[in-house]
Amino acid sequence: MKAVCWMGTEKMTVETVPDPTILILVTQLFALPALVFAVSDLHLYNGLMPTMEQGDIMGHEFMGEVVEIGAGVDREKLKVGDRVVVPFTIACGRCFFCQQQLWSCCDNSNPNYWIAEKMMGYSPSGLFGYTHMLGGYAGGQAQYARVPFADVGP
Ligand SMILES: [Zn+2]
Repeated sequence: MKAVCWMGTEKMTVETVPDPTILILVTQLFALPALVFAVSDLHLYNGLMPTMEQGDIMGHEFMGEVVEIGAGVDREKLKVGDRVVVPFTIACGRCFFCQQQLWSCCDNSNPNYWIAEKMMGYSPSGLFGYTHMLGGYAGGQAQYARVPFADVGP
């Protein structure tokens, strides 16, 4: 698939990358007349956030259509063909913080929490397309994106 990739400070390009193994969304990125980046992407573009790696897929908020649903997703909440908006934060929906609707504090979505704790003093939830210290998740500026805990965020 095609995806917008971070290739280094002030360098982002459209690259051909492997498709995600569990396809959840087809984004509408390539139907847009131009790429749209959020202000938060400028932190990455300018090299201000550590733990980006060459080839990381950009895009921390996106929308699209559900094309495949993985095991463990509540099929009452999400169905193939649903059109959804996916937020920046990745939340499990089950931990103490998620139960309080404090999604950005989710205890279960950042597998690299120890890096974030070391660098920032605490770890927020995992985030799409926003450094490896915040999970290393591929972003949504691509033809397909994999969305963990897909019955919570979209
Ligand atoms: Zn949680």
